This record gives sequence, structure tokens and C-alpha cells, in this order.
Amino acid sequence: MEQTLAIIKPDAVERNLVGEILGRAEEAGLRIAALKMVRLSKEGAQGFYYVHKERPFFPSLTDFMSSGPIVVAVLQGEGAIQKWRDLMGATDPAKADEGTIRKAFGLNVEKNSVHGSDSPQSAAYEIAYFFSELEMVNK
Ligand code: ADP
Repeated sequence: MEQTLAIIKPDAVERNLVGEILGRAEEAGLRIAALKMVRLSKEGAQGFYYVHKERPFFPSLTDFMSSGPIVVAVLQGEGAIQKWRDLMGATDPAKADEGTIRKAFGLNVEKNSVHGSDSPQSAAYEIAYFFSELEMVNK
């Protein structure tokens, strides 16, 4: 079974959208294999988004991601990585398809409410960034 890392970003936690967003994952048949709320430090956000460190939006993105609590989850299921990305929609909410999470709740290209791993390699890095084996439910 494939696993992906999902994050409910500070803009969505702030607006009480945790239940709504996790509900969309569950309705689509994804199972929650691990779940917690954390507040990243600036350094913690920089480590998570390390691949984007040369991008112009890196300072702002890491400020945003450390600005308040986030909910991190491991979602599990067949084709979980693509399935969760399809549910999220395009990075820029203005360009996201109708019915996607980012279309419904994203505020702008940075404060776009959710994160999802984009490949098996990034899923492995990102899951290990937040969860130990002990915190993972094996279904
Ligand atoms: P995705 O989250 O859809 O995989 P990226 O990996 O390209 O998108 O970017 C990571 C995150 O960086 C985005 O979700 C968004 O929060 C932020 N971001 C991406 N592009 C921009 C941009 N042009 N301006 C500001 N923030 C951005």
C-alpha cells in the first residue's frame, strides 16, 4: 500500500478546516496511518522545504509554515500519492479545478491550505521527517 505525507497548513488550521480536509481524504478512501498537530520552527520549515531553498519564495514560505500549528498525516491507500494530489488541486488556488481542496479553501499560491508529497522519494523523506516507526499504524 502506498503512503503519502499530507499537511494541513497554518492558514487552514487557523480557519477550523482540519475536520473538513481530513474528511475529504477519508471520503476518497484514503486511510489515516499517522496523525498529529505540530508547530514548526523556522529551521524546521527550512529543513522540510530543503529542495526549494534556492527559490525566491523560500523565505516567505518558511515564515508562513512556521507561523502557526499544522496538522501532519500519513495517508495510505492504493495510489495514495496521486490520489491526494488530485484532491488538493493545482498549487495556485486560482488555477485549481472545481471540487478540489485548494479551489475551495486556498487563499493564494503560498497560503494554499494543504501539502502532499509529489513522488515516492519525497514521500519517504517527508514521512520520516515527521514520524517515527513507532507512531505509524501498519494496516
Ligand atoms: P506543491 O505544494 O503544489 O507541490 P511546490 O512544490 O511547487 O507546489 O511548492 C511548494 C509550496 O511553496 C506551495 O505549496 C506553496 O505553498 C509555495 N509556493 C509555490 N510557488 C509559490 C510562489 N510562486 N509564490 C509563493 N509561494 C509559492
